[in-house]
Amino acid sequence: MRTKDRLPRIGDWSTYGELAALQEARLPEVLARAAESPFYRDRLGAEGAVGFGALPTTTKSDLRDNYPFGMRAVPGSELATYHESSGSTGRPTPSYYTEDDWVDLAERFARKRVGIRATDTLLVRTPYAMLLTGHLAHAAGRLGGATVVPGDNRSLATPYSRVVRALHDLEVTLTWSMPTECLLWAAAAEAQGLRPDADFPSLRALFVGGEPLSPARRARISRVWCVEVVEEYGSTETGSLAGECEEGRLHLWADRVLCEVRDPATGEIRREGAGQLVVTPLHRAAMPLLRYNLEDSVEVSYDPCPCGWVLPTVTVLGRAVYGHRVGGTLVTQHRLEDLVYRLSFAYGVLFWRARTTSEQLRVEIEVADEHRAAACAELAGSVRRELGVECVVEGIAPGALVPRDVLTGMPDVVKPRSLFGPDEDWDNAILYY
Ligand SMILES: [Zn+2]
Repeated sequence: MRTKDRLPRIGDWSTYGELAALQEARLPEVLARAAESPFYRDRLGAEGAVGFGALPTTTKSDLRDNYPFGMRAVPGSELATYHESSGSTGRPTPSYYTEDDWVDLAERFARKRVGIRATDTLLVRTPYAMLLTGHLAHAAGRLGGATVVPGDNRSLATPYSRVVRALHDLEVTLTWSMPTECLLWAAAAEAQGLRPDADFPSLRALFVGGEPLSPARRARISRVWCVEVVEEYGSTETGSLAGECEEGRLHLWADRVLCEVRDPATGEIRREGAGQLVVTPLHRAAMPLLRYNLEDSVEVSYDPCPCGWVLPTVTVLGRAVYGHRVGGTLVTQHRLEDLVYRLSFAYGVLFWRARTTSEQLRVEIEVADEHRAAACAELAGSVRRELGVECVVEGIAPGALVPRDVLTGMPDVVKPRSLFGPDEDWDNAILYY
């Protein structure tokens, strides 16, 4: 049977018991496939004697140590795409997929409460090189029959001015990006004399992921553009792991990926609760993963959600728990961001940065002259009140953090060439980077 005919779909099960049965039915094949890869052949033992429940986690380090193809369970000729992400170590974390794997990947990403339709134009504004994210949204857009606009955010060819032009002229209806991008587009649109809330009437939702998003920043993005913001959670090594329901909660795609939680203190692996998210994709051939530890801090719950989906919910704390101490208090970007974006909308604050010392927090916000005093006083007050730390807030001129030419510039990207006409400046004509 073809992969797309046997992949489970929401509605195929109606209780958590049925969901568990569906997962368990897949495990023998998942283990057998894994044993085809050199890495798991060693780990599972010669006769595959180690059962799933006794398996240790697979770490990012395991993936790096087995670069490039030590985790591969199919002949090289069956691979469709190769990706890698690189962390702070600089060593690549590889991942690769077959054509069949891509059916599951695209379907999972497309499971959105705001569906992707043939009448949509989807701007993909995450990297295409060498990560999965851009290709994932691209494939999900094509699956839904949408017109996909590849607008890679790390390409010289697509500066913000061009993105704003595309959003406007192509009547883009859906976008996929990091949340920060949506604020940069808004500033770039205003720099071109366009109003994000009025001059982009075709836009109906902003799909975002890839960085922590506090409730206030999410609300700000939604208000600036006057459309819904829909969150997504996943990684290059796994594809989409969770998507948002109508109640605004993230549900794990547990019919496609078995999700568990590891207590980092004891190493114990449980079905739910707080800890590191550990996943086992149930429909994947090229690079099987058994109990892959994403090392993201999460909380998984099986409490019923009013939306009716029989899928566990996940709260992703991720890097949100990371911060610096000021006095005795841990200040995280997540909490500080929430206070910045709770400032009055009229102040127009979109960009900020902060630095901690052991005694004090210093925050800079981009704000126009007429709102400077009020915005700074309001933020300093809320930081002292909510976080209980000493704080200095400085208002700086718009453009100081995000320069205007970043928002309006259109760099000239030309192909390398060697022959020039008599009036051409050959010293500035070749860009090899
Ligand atoms: Zn729900």
